[in-house]
Amino acid sequence: MKFQSTRGKAPVVSGLQALINGLAPDGGLYVPQAFPKIDFDWDQLAKADYFQIGQLVLSTFFDEFSQAELADFLHEAYAQFDRPEIVKVHALDDKRQLLELFHGPTLAFKDMALSLLPYLLTAAVKKTGQKDALVILTATSGDTGGAALQGFSDVDQTQIVVYYPSVGVSALQRQQMTTTPGQNAHVVAVEGNFDDAQRVVKKLLADPDLAKQMQTAGLRFSSANSINIGRLVAQVIYYIYAYAQLLKSGRLKPGEKLDVTVPTGNFGDILAAYWAKKLGLPLGKLTVASNANHVLTDFFASGIYNAKRDFQVTTSPAMDILLSSNLERLLFDVAGAEKTRHWMTDLAEKQTFTVDDKTLDLLQQSFNAAFADADQTSQTIKETFRDHDYLLDPHTAVAVHANQQFTTQRQQLIVSTASPFKFAEIVLSALGQKPADDPAANLKQVAQIAKLPVPAAIADLFTKKVRFHEQLTIDQLGEDLKASLGL
Ligand SMILES: *Cc1c(COP(=O)(O)O)cnc(C)c1O
Repeated sequence: MKFQSTRGKAPVVSGLQALINGLAPDGGLYVPQAFPKIDFDWDQLAKADYFQIGQLVLSTFFDEFSQAELADFLHEAYAQFDRPEIVKVHALDDKRQLLELFHGPTLAFKDMALSLLPYLLTAAVKKTGQKDALVILTATSGDTGGAALQGFSDVDQTQIVVYYPSVGVSALQRQQMTTTPGQNAHVVAVEGNFDDAQRVVKKLLADPDLAKQMQTAGLRFSSANSINIGRLVAQVIYYIYAYAQLLKSGRLKPGEKLDVTVPTGNFGDILAAYWAKKLGLPLGKLTVASNANHVLTDFFASGIYNAKRDFQVTTSPAMDILLSSNLERLLFDVAGAEKTRHWMTDLAEKQTFTVDDKTLDLLQQSFNAAFADADQTSQTIKETFRDHDYLLDPHTAVAVHANQQFTTQRQQLIVSTASPFKFAEIVLSALGQKPADDPAANLKQVAQIAKLPVPAAIADLFTKKVRFHEQLTIDQLGEDLKASLGL
């Protein structure tokens, strides 16, 4: 299997090289050169566990790894999860299923891919015989940072650099990032929002002078953001696993279509659903759920992507994004490299682009889009708890609200991307309670309401020592990076 760039101006590379590169040299994202298909055996699928499905998916995209290697990576990666089955499908009622992806060490779905990525990446470096140490450059809206620091903590021959926005991240997210024990970590608060941080990362990744300096020092960049193909492929696994669980429980008949709703920011998670569908999984409509930063809702309605608007800091901060990177992979899929390149140039230069009617029509055939504002989000948390005795995190609440905007006869899978413990203050406010100043007390309060223990992964988080205090402007990041790498 080979990978090409969405902008069509970069060499075709192996899966191993695509993993290492992160971003293609023409600024595009890697996608399979010929999209694979899986001929699903429903009886077998219904019996398969997460690891078996993981092997099936990973070997389909990355044929350079042996089955034994992949089994090994998967078991190592998910050893820290607090459920043996890795993810849980929770029936909210007889038509709606929540796919809980938050049972990893940082309590958000980023753990699904970022626990696995270090294994894929270090093995790819070994297999290609490269000697350089990797510098994993990461922009985060709050959850990727913690998960990447966790996954790459003290991994041999790697440094991990995380830029998070100084406003918007929750107390718990900040504490997870700034107390990370890894000696290979560098964590900086950036004066700006996620889009600013992501733009700087893309610029640094593509800076030829910096690349030369790094090469001399025996270093090379890679990325833990969802622009990395390894993250996307790892995320395809759980859609197939969810389908398998619903076959097993009899909620779905073999081949029956399942609609999927995904709380969306950078468009990585929902693109993985689209890829699962392209692989042959019988998925119906995919619903893009956004918050008050509803660029995508507007785009799927009008064909106009307009990032020229005020950035809102919301109660679902991991989705506070105006430039959704992975949309580029979808555009490539429906319209090809030339148009994609053109649109991405427009976006960089004018902060907006407009697709043609045919493209819009194709997009609307596969996707619905809707958003929830802050009131609708907290209302959904409150009502879901009242009616179903289930506590949603605000990101998942956005998805539950968006899902309600569309009626179909099909079974609904709603992706639950974070634990309510991770956003305790927002959840408590939604329930009409006043959060305490002490974040640890709020965790206890959520535990009592949800009738669940405080997850072990965060039980002593607020007693840990903060190691990183740095806050920098966008313009200072390049120099700071060089200093931290000794360049
Ligand atoms: C990252 C994140 C999202 C958005 O996922 P994308 O792949 O960026 O679209 C949604 N919810 C939570 C909790 C997240 O951390």
